[in-house]
Amino acid sequence: MLFNSTDRPKSTAPWFLEQVLEYDDFPVNDTDDCAICLDKLIEKDCLKLRVIKDGESYGCAHVFHKSCCENWLKQANVCPLCREKLPEDDREEELKQMEERYVRLQQEQQAREKRADDFSSTMFG
Ligand SMILES: [Zn+2]
Ligand SMILES: [Zn+2]
Repeated sequence: MLFNSTDRPKSTAPWFLEQVLEYDDFPVNDTDDCAICLDKLIEKDCLKLRVIKDGESYGCAHVFHKSCCENWLKQANVCPLCREKLPEDDREEELKQMEERYVRLQQEQQAREKRADDFSSTMFG
């Protein structure tokens, strides 16, 4: 085993994978090979490792076969060719953000209830 559990490579973020699989309408250079299987790129469906999200671009724009790259991206979040880091599937970060949202909502709810209490005590107190 190459990696221990704390140093395990993360898989690529699902939204990134989805987008690169969806936007396959780009010109493919017929002299280029897929760096994963070394076959010509024009022989199969291709994807480009580039996604524009919220005005920011992610990925290095290298091109691979869809079938080759999809499997790779489910196990690693780097480009198979240049090793550029891609958006990672970071569930821990997501959970933390969800928790923060939940705490904030609770605080807002408490503040609302307090206001309601103050209101009724001035009206009926
Ligand atoms: Zn390939
Ligand atoms: Zn690359």
